[in-house]
Amino acid sequence: MTNAEKKKVIIVGAGDGGIILSHRIKKDFDVTLIDKSTMHYFQPWQLHIAFSGAKEKKIEKRKLIPRGAKFINKEVKKVDLANRKVVLDGEELSYDYLVVDTGSRGDYSKIPGHQELFNEFGDFHSNTEAAERLWSKVKSFSGGDAVIGISYPTYKCPPSPDEAAFLFEEYINKHKLKQKTKIMFITPFPRAYPAEQMNEIVEQTMKERNIEIFTFFDVESIDTKNRIINSIEGDKLHYDFAAIVPPHRGAGIVEGFSDDDGFVKTDKFKLNIGDYDDAYCMGDATNIPTSKSAVTAHLESKVIRDRLLGIDSRFNGRTHCPFEFGYRKATFVIGSYDDPVVKLKPSTFMYLMKMGMKYMAWQVIRNQMEWFLEPYFKMTDPKKLSKKNK
Ligand SMILES: Cc1cc2nc3c(=O)[nH]c(=O)nc-3n(C[C@H](O)[C@H](O)[C@H](O)COP(=O)(O)OP(=O)(O)OC[C@H]3O[C@@H](n4cnc5c(N)ncnc54)[C@H](O)[C@@H]3O)c2cc1C
Repeated sequence: MTNAEKKKVIIVGAGDGGIILSHRIKKDFDVTLIDKSTMHYFQPWQLHIAFSGAKEKKIEKRKLIPRGAKFINKEVKKVDLANRKVVLDGEELSYDYLVVDTGSRGDYSKIPGHQELFNEFGDFHSNTEAAERLWSKVKSFSGGDAVIGISYPTYKCPPSPDEAAFLFEEYINKHKLKQKTKIMFITPFPRAYPAEQMNEIVEQTMKERNIEIFTFFDVESIDTKNRIINSIEGDKLHYDFAAIVPPHRGAGIVEGFSDDDGFVKTDKFKLNIGDYDDAYCMGDATNIPTSKSAVTAHLESKVIRDRLLGIDSRFNGRTHCPFEFGYRKATFVIGSYDDPVVKLKPSTFMYLMKMGMKYMAWQVIRNQMEWFLEPYFKMTDPKKLSKKNK
């Protein structure tokens, strides 16, 4: 079949999800990817830059567009599902099928003072430069009050704030600053980690490492002059060092189907936008109740490929998030819509698996690792794991 005979798929956002989907469907469809950026970032590595000074240039690459697909380097202003139109600056494109993969980003304007905090400290959640800024603060920290955590319930990579607290503790312990430091972990959730089973391990570990947990802490404002973080609930925490994950937003470009935070109203099983059967959403951009993670986008891309090919696949909400505990130990947060997260004790083996992901990331998004990942995801199915765990 020539490209002219194939159905036209437009993928808005060439992130982890959009790229892997384009590689999966390139033979069967005429694919156009649109992204405002030409670069792709391996976001998990920001944690290691920020808390262990990792110097890894390979986390940035030009977008890995499949041969035969078109790439348009522009910002999409609006998606009009009723008229099947994608609106760019001064141009409109039509499609047979649309997939939105515009990700999520930190919104530093939502909490007064957050932008100033970000300007001074950087963070581990936005880009390489901000992670390097945070690393310079970690390196120059000589003891005092350290506040690490989440400001708002919507953010990507659920384990990352807890991982940040563990990596920071490991650093100050190794640099003999533990006696001079109070580490405080803040979260708007009722637990240090939202999923109860995993939280049992997380809270126990935080207790052992003297990390104080402040639950139901919704950040209201940050007073950067007096170095105070205020919560809606009335708590005030002083900081000398702070690394706070910002509230996250979606792109807000899908007309009539964006929620208040700009996320796309998506069917949690079929991944259609609203009841449009020619429009899908995936990855961080959706409002579905599962982790915002690259693994989620990866698994959703299989469902969307199938559905584009007329196969009635459904997404089961599967999560598989690596979770680092410091001291070369890690676990994975594995669950689904129907299966609660499995309580998996951190181990060095799982740490090595997490670190290995960096080396496979580019092959994964080019759809070259399915020979390994397909059996791996089956082997680690939450139902199977929880039976083994009993
Ligand atoms: C510190 C940290 C650690 C993490 N660790 C892990 C981990 O261990 N495992 C894991 O699975 N996930 C992890 N994640 C999460 C993971 O990186 C994201 O969930 C994943 O990248 C989301 O992929 P996506 O395709 O949805 O969006 P993205 O990869 O963010 O891509 C979105 C794309 O859309 C483009 N875009 C946005 N708006 C527009 C527009 N209007 N017009 C054109 N283009 C647009 C952007 O330029 C971008 O290229 C981590 C994230 C962080 C920050």
